[in-house]
Amino acid sequence: MRAQSPGITLGHVVVTGGSVAGLLTALALAPRADRVTILERDHYEDGPEPRSGVPQSRHTHVLLASGINALGELLPELLPELRDAGAPWLAVPGDLGVWQAGQWISRRNPSAPVMTPSRPFLEHRIREHVMARPGIEVRTSTEVTGLLGTAARVTGVMVRDRGGDPQARRRLPADLVVDATGRGSRTPAWLSELGAAPPEEDVLDTGRAYATAVFTGDPPPADIRGFYLVPEAVQPLGTIILPAENDRWMVTLSGPPDQPPPTDPAGFVDFASRLPHPAPHKWLSTAHPVSRPVGYRRTMNRRSHYERLAPDFTGLLVVGDAACALNPVYGQGVSVAALNAVALARALSGGRTPSTHDLQRAVLRSSDFAWEVATGADSSMPGATGNALRSGRAVRLLTRYLDRLRAHVASDPVVCTANRDVLFLLTPPRTLVTSPRVLRRVLLRSPVPTPRDLPTP
Ligand SMILES: Cc1cc2nc3c(=O)[nH]c(=O)nc-3n(C[C@H](O)[C@H](O)[C@H](O)COP(=O)(O)OP(=O)(O)OC[C@H]3O[C@@H](n4cnc5c(N)ncnc54)[C@H](O)[C@@H]3O)c2cc1C
Repeated sequence: MRAQSPGITLGHVVVTGGSVAGLLTALALAPRADRVTILERDHYEDGPEPRSGVPQSRHTHVLLASGINALGELLPELLPELRDAGAPWLAVPGDLGVWQAGQWISRRNPSAPVMTPSRPFLEHRIREHVMARPGIEVRTSTEVTGLLGTAARVTGVMVRDRGGDPQARRRLPADLVVDATGRGSRTPAWLSELGAAPPEEDVLDTGRAYATAVFTGDPPPADIRGFYLVPEAVQPLGTIILPAENDRWMVTLSGPPDQPPPTDPAGFVDFASRLPHPAPHKWLSTAHPVSRPVGYRRTMNRRSHYERLAPDFTGLLVVGDAACALNPVYGQGVSVAALNAVALARALSGGRTPSTHDLQRAVLRSSDFAWEVATGADSSMPGATGNALRSGRAVRLLTRYLDRLRAHVASDPVVCTANRDVLFLLTPPRTLVTSPRVLRRVLLRSPVPTPRDLPTP
């Protein structure tokens, strides 16, 4: 990497994977690079369509408040444009029926925003901006098949045209290679081929199974704009029902590995009758399906520690799901991809020249809150496995405290706000145990249950 300070220059950056993380990273690095080339295996459709390289694009996606802030910092014109194009904005919990710890959360608690464009719609809009940026070139139908370089330095990638002669590979040199190829990233294996050690990994898998279908129909009663029934250890079934652009409803059901939601249309709706409150099933029974349910099962949390590779190892940066894939039930991945890109832009804006190691650490830190939230909650799920599973006496005490805290979330505005800000990745999870106001309320007061009927605004 050619680096000068101040105003560091990255030379030629090759980003592998042209999905949300790759596009946003290209945007963050472009002002410091001579040129950026994004390599994407898929062919992009002209419009906002799901594509095979992003199988999760058929599933419900929520953009958390932290992700909204990060996208606003990277692409200020995008948010008003999404709103004008019909992407729903919701206040949470004001607009949503949120069921947690056996009760509805009061909608009168203070709210924060989320956005709920469909995943293809959001990516399409980001893509349009990125492709219009000078200095960024996107090559589609181009598959990366390996890394070039040595055990100490990555110097480019091997590529082949998708649909062309599988043996016809080309070398594409780069000063910096960014891996944004998602959950299926092959970088660990490719590093081994170069003689470098693959990264250490933390994993935690609950085996949660998903199914999603698209519906049309009237909104639920009481001015509710969607449902979120949070799965828990004692009650493992969940749903998230959210509006998307073009008057559609994205309906996702989830269950533990031994209770996967069915992907036949009738079974899908029946499954909703087993949720802990009848309201989502009642609403779903009146709505009209416009797609068949599709399933998804690769929901493991996995964080790869590229920042622990030898400090002088250079030329490679890993972002998005390739670096930190999260259980989708917490709706964090796109927000984390945007936070990764903001962290990179900030790390490159100082006078000091960061190494790729520094940049990788910035990426890691920007996904810390999300990792703690997802693995903290998943550790209490029955049957969860992996080296990131938290256990021991301190963890049992913490779990008891957090169970008590969740009972207060429904009706206590202070506890609800603190919990919401952690889930939206706005504040560190530790605030739930260090804030004196929250501690006092959780430990000294008795929780006040909310009514069982659908909450009114
Ligand atoms: C069921 C489900 C629901 C989810 N719900 C939410 C949600 O509500 N909110 C949220 O924020 N996040 C959610 N996520 C996570 C979110 O989808 C991802 O975090 C987000 O898409 C960012 O991923 P990415 O860009 O890192 O990888 P991906 O989006 O997976 O993209 C990887 C890209 O790399 C390309 N590629 C792969 N291999 C190669 C190769 N060899 N050469 C060239 N290109 C290649 C692929 O074609 C693809 O375009 C969900 C995920 C799942 C699975």
